Amino acid sequence: MTRDLFARHRAVLPDWLALYYEDPLEITHGEGRHVWDAAGNKYLDFFGGILTTMTAHALPEVTKAVAEQAGRIIHSSTLYLNRPMVELAERVAHLSGIPDARVFFTTSGTEANDTALLLATAYRRSNAILAMRNSYHGRSFGAVGITGNRGWSPTSLSPLQTLYVHGGVRSRGPYAHLDDREFVDACVADLKDLLGHTRAPAALIAEPVQGVGGFTSPPDGLYAAFREVLHERGVLWISDEVQTGWGRTGEHFWGWQAHGRNGPPDIVTFAKGIGNGMSIGGVVARAEIMNCLDANSISTFGGTQVTMAAGLANLSYLLEHDLQGNARRVGGLLIERLRAVAAQVPHVREVRGRGLMIGVELTRPGTDEAAPDAASAVLEEARAGGLLVGKGGGHDTSVLRVAPPMSLTVAEAEEGAAILERALRSI
Ligand code: PMP
Repeated sequence: MTRDLFARHRAVLPDWLALYYEDPLEITHGEGRHVWDAAGNKYLDFFGGILTTMTAHALPEVTKAVAEQAGRIIHSSTLYLNRPMVELAERVAHLSGIPDARVFFTTSGTEANDTALLLATAYRRSNAILAMRNSYHGRSFGAVGITGNRGWSPTSLSPLQTLYVHGGVRSRGPYAHLDDREFVDACVADLKDLLGHTRAPAALIAEPVQGVGGFTSPPDGLYAAFREVLHERGVLWISDEVQTGWGRTGEHFWGWQAHGRNGPPDIVTFAKGIGNGMSIGGVVARAEIMNCLDANSISTFGGTQVTMAAGLANLSYLLEHDLQGNARRVGGLLIERLRAVAAQVPHVREVRGRGLMIGVELTRPGTDEAAPDAASAVLEEARAGGLLVGKGGGHDTSVLRVAPPMSLTVAEAEEGAAILERALRSI
């Protein structure tokens, strides 16, 4: 049945929609941290947490809120007063840490970043944007132009003037040999050099931990140093929290807080799991920035009642069950456990991460050469063992990405680590 569906998928959908696995998976249902395929096989899900399911699959609180709202009304999100949207906006504004915050909801992270670009370029009257090498911000006509990860961005001409800054990833490239301090200094010098050649950029956009880029974070102090340089010139700071928001990184509610000695960003974008599968994205900015647009709305569905109801229920669950604390504790154990395995598997170059956002980078043993084949082989082996993980990273996809729903238990973390260990040892 699934094979037939694969043939139909191939016949009718774009060729560039990449599917995981040689024998692609049809997920039919889920519960908690587990999903089932069409053949009835059960998998522990170590990836869905960052894609859609922030808290848990089929979370009853969210299902109930969605069903009740869908049974009542879904209408224009912005032309009439929309209670769930106002309530979620109030909560997000408060949680954002941004003073005098205004919130605008979209349907995806891509659209959230596009909106941030609209705001920043209008506010600063400049279409120049600074972005990080190896970044991912989406694939709309605007967002693709600020996506430095070449694997995702070669196909479009950008309406923006984008300048890519060093600092996203260090393991390969001209700065690979530098220590943290030297790396920060070199990246700051690079930024100043770019600024010297650009008239008044609108903003710099950065992911606190690069997601698609392979869960890499810059060394401590880099973003703080960048912000000092940018602040002096009035350049805005946009933090793309699409993967790092809502406590996933454990120590902090937002990824920017790990780099936050100069306070909240000017603009924060978010999306993915906040709706636990219902499509919510959004932008938070100070009122003076948000209100600089002469717009009515941006699209029909951002902030629709049913997605907002999901967001409210999901956020309440996340906060009431301290899933940020859970991400810190269980993620910490998982990182430790995977590091112990890594020490014995020559293909593993590094296990890195914060909270429940963990990257396992694979290289050819004894070299710095990426090993995308090994990453694909581990993905297949893990699946055979009943575990789903993701992959990502730079030009070659050789980083395994572990990002389970944030309600992951210690027993599930142990179980998943054991399956991943067997898969890693098999290469
Ligand atoms: N920003 C980041 C950091 C992302 O990881 C993604 C999605 N992978 C996006 C933006 C785009 O979000 P969406 O897929 O919801 O459009």
